[in-house]
Amino acid sequence: MGVKCLIGFHSWNGCKCSGCGRTRNSEHDWSKNCDRCARCADLRSPSQHLWQGEHCSICQITLPQEVEQVWGDLRDSLPEVPLGADRCKAFLLGSLKGGCSLEVAIEEFAKAFQATPNDFRDLARIADTIWEQIKDSLKGLPLRVSACKEKLIADLRSGMSFQSAAESLVKDIAANPHRYRDLPPCYTPSCFSPRGNVCLSMIAPRRR
Ligand SMILES: [Zn+2]
Ligand SMILES: [Zn+2]
Ligand SMILES: [Zn+2]
Repeated sequence: MGVKCLIGFHSWNGCKCSGCGRTRNSEHDWSKNCDRCARCADLRSPSQHLWQGEHCSICQITLPQEVEQVWGDLRDSLPEVPLGADRCKAFLLGSLKGGCSLEVAIEEFAKAFQATPNDFRDLARIADTIWEQIKDSLKGLPLRVSACKEKLIADLRSGMSFQSAAESLVKDIAANPHRYRDLPPCYTPSCFSPRGNVCLSMIAPRRR
């Protein structure tokens, strides 16, 4: 930080100091988006857009662009939560179409996420992570990985914690091994294939 900033003389460029990056709640830049400052990403509520269909006649942004922006903010602020992009975006679009500002759309998302997190989580990615953690303890068993992951996803969707889903899978493999066994593919088709015939002729006794 420069000496000037240290003693309180910031070089304000609108809402943001070009010296130290500090922001202030005035002189925001709403030119690119009526509700989200182009310099500091501060949000404005209630919404100032003037929607004509899916397009704001003041800042020219469209609803899908608005959704992309708020989705980007969300994802960056929650890097540790594997969110399902499609479901989150659909929810945000619904709020924005209902006339919410970006700020309110995010608040509504936060409430919905707390109530039913599995509606917004990327369960397949979570199942992958759980599988990575338990697969070594199942080593030696010829398992169909896809069947194991399907079971994990179904349990997560029903609201189980990660830990319970992992335990439930291990128990179910022990109780119902046939559901998860990786059986060798059926031999029948290859017996009648040209390659199969070649194999048979090779093991047939040779004529002198
Ligand atoms: Zn400064
Ligand atoms: Zn700003
Ligand atoms: Zn606008």
